[in-house]
Amino acid sequence: MSARVAVVGSSNLDLVVTASRLPHPGETVLGENFRTVPGGKGANQAVAAARAGAACDFVGAVGDDEFGTRMRASLVDAGVDVSGLRTAAGPSGVALIAVDRDAENFILVAPGANGTLTELNADDRATIAAADVLLLQLEVPLTAVLQAAHWARADGTTVVLNAAPAAALPTALLDLVDVLVVNEHEAAVVAEVASDDPPVLLDALLKLVPRVVLTLGARGAAYADRHGLRLAVPAPQIDAVDTTAAGDAFTGALAVGWAERGGASSEDTVTASLRWACAAGAACAQRPGASTALPARPAIDALYDATYRGAQ
Ligand code: ADP
Repeated sequence: MSARVAVVGSSNLDLVVTASRLPHPGETVLGENFRTVPGGKGANQAVAAARAGAACDFVGAVGDDEFGTRMRASLVDAGVDVSGLRTAAGPSGVALIAVDRDAENFILVAPGANGTLTELNADDRATIAAADVLLLQLEVPLTAVLQAAHWARADGTTVVLNAAPAAALPTALLDLVDVLVVNEHEAAVVAEVASDDPPVLLDALLKLVPRVVLTLGARGAAYADRHGLRLAVPAPQIDAVDTTAAGDAFTGALAVGWAERGGASSEDTVTASLRWACAAGAACAQRPGASTALPARPAIDALYDATYRGAQ
């Protein structure tokens, strides 16, 4: 049986304009290309988990507009179960993104329907209870995140929290997290330490949660838990084309790998889950685009085998 992953989180439509340079306040710049791309960390991680081979349920909200229809269809296309996706009156969440020739960008997000996901229902609880892993981020109201984590803990589902966008977190939530996934910036904000030194960040975070996965871009990922296990996993050596959504690919695949390998049962299972997640992040970075670049299982397996076969 494939792993079951439930995601409670955001979905946005990214409205992306490329231009020779970014406008200053009050200025109009004639852009080049325009494209719309389904996004939002919740939806991206749900698609990442489904492409990585999980049975994946998404609980979230889109608006009653064309964008909502488009986002729902893109989740269905990826094989995500959208029974828990609400359609709320009003606009869908959007991200206005401008990108210049140096890949510098600005991003303005209007949460729209994501902001209506303030409480969950009995069906959502059943969905979470049936999953091996509940995957959470911080782009929907904290009340829903807390409710989901609370039910997961009560019903024996592992809680993986990707603390993005970066925010200091209430103890009530930290106490319900089994695995925290953060990049270096998010780690410093959650731990409330001014450091970019991985061991310092891991030590500080282990005071808050039992297991931490720290993503380190082209340097791979690090892991630490309260049983004293510490690992550093190098990333596959690739020519990175576009690292947008690499973190979502990593987190979605980590949830799947963790569920398939029975969590933190041994050093070997943790190592394999981290390597597989690194392969997913790198496979995503090899292709242009965000959600469109999230890799399917064969691509993840191929990069995993090419990189780590024979490694201890
Ligand atoms: P975020 O985008 O959330 O800041 P990271 O940049 O740490 O996350 O990337 C997430 C994961 O994707 C990394 O841990 C790594 O496994 C993979 N990755 C990202 N960039 C590269 C790269 N240039 N080369 C290889 N792997 C990468």
